[in-house]
Amino acid sequence: MSADGRSVSILGVTGSIGQSTIAVIEELRAQGAHIPVEAVTAGANLQGLAEACRRLRPKFAAVADPNQLEAARAALAGLDIAVGAGPSALEDAAARPAAWVMSAIVGAAGLAPTLAAIRRGALVALANKECLVSAGPLMLKAAADHGATLLPVDSEHNAIFQVLTHPERVEKLTLTASGGPFRTATREIMARASPAQACAHPRWSMGRKISVDSATLMNKGLELIEASYLFGLEEKFIDVVIHPESVVHSFAHFVDGSVLAQLGSPDMRIPIAYTLSWPDRAKVSTERLDLAGLKSLNFEAPDPELFPALRLCRAALRTGPLAAAALNAANEEAVAAFLAGRIGFLDIARVVEDVLAHLEAEAAPIAKSPSSFDEVGAMDGAARRAALEIAGSLTAA
Ligand code: NAD
Ligand code: MG
Repeated sequence: MSADGRSVSILGVTGSIGQSTIAVIEELRAQGAHIPVEAVTAGANLQGLAEACRRLRPKFAAVADPNQLEAARAALAGLDIAVGAGPSALEDAAARPAAWVMSAIVGAAGLAPTLAAIRRGALVALANKECLVSAGPLMLKAAADHGATLLPVDSEHNAIFQVLTHPERVEKLTLTASGGPFRTATREIMARASPAQACAHPRWSMGRKISVDSATLMNKGLELIEASYLFGLEEKFIDVVIHPESVVHSFAHFVDGSVLAQLGSPDMRIPIAYTLSWPDRAKVSTERLDLAGLKSLNFEAPDPELFPALRLCRAALRTGPLAAAALNAANEEAVAAFLAGRIGFLDIARVVEDVLAHLEAEAAPIAKSPSSFDEVGAMDGAARRAALEIAGSLTAA
């Protein structure tokens, strides 16, 4: 099986990953591949949604905001596409019979639609890491129960997925991190960092939320949790190394001392194309690596003082899945508060740490394993309320 003949849907089509997915589909179509598009979704960007619909010609398009149904119909007039609006329309989009679904909504908002694709046994290309961090064990169980296949899109996890020749013979994984825009900064510089500075990533061009997460290294912490769930390893068997060139996308260390890595230019079309054509590979016009031109690749340990987020994520993973859900929700709220100018850059990790301490002090069932998605949702809600309160007190201070 390859991408040719595979029907697809794209959740979050207007975002950075959504746009790269369109680029891959168009390139493969230009080579003659037949890739029909079933459904696409967007948050609130109707212009972007209409543009994607003109290019892809899906049968169904959904927008997350329920008040935008008429406006979405008007934006897509003449294209002969059924239109829906609101959270249930996002799930309807994912439930339609596409063989492959790109899950690229940002945040835990992507959980319900991703589950709708999992529950009909689809191939799910998973870019949305927040839904896995929030509900990992339950999502993996749903995938196993319904025969769905999760194909990791996050470049590190995609790299490990590509080199995992003997999953039961893995000793350790190493996730690489570019280090983000503040790799060589001081705490004083970080304390004054603006949203624009935090989003100016040196290697990757991405949505604003993941860009801020990359600057705090929370992104790497979320990825550590993601890797633990996807590959079934405890946090002590997952290392993080700073690799400023972003050429090696991660490493798998095996019991005989062999270390396998996947390399490539930092371009999300590579992992997206791999999941779309899996288990085959497709020809994609990404920049080829010039090894002699690179000259050297550097690796260094992350500074725990500058980047407390990694420690927080390791602690949440040790506590259990509900702590990871709380951490993710608190971080989403803290990042939104930072992007809105309500708290400082260093406050993001502080809010997350305080929310987890607050929930533990309140004797919230944080160390328990959730048995339903409702329990995850309740913890997510409690963490968001606590984060808003704590962020509010920092704003006032
Ligand atoms: P983005 O902000 O560029 O795009 C997000 C998409 O989700 C958009 O289509 C937006 O309209 C939609 N959306 C936003 N809020 C929504 C809501 N409440 N309900 C429904 N839809 C909503 O983000 P991105 O950079 O494309 O990242 C998407 C996901 O992929 C994130 O989880 C991110 O961590 C992950 N990811 C991204 C990259 C990257 O290079 N951009 C790499 C690895 C993983
Ligand atoms: Mg990544």
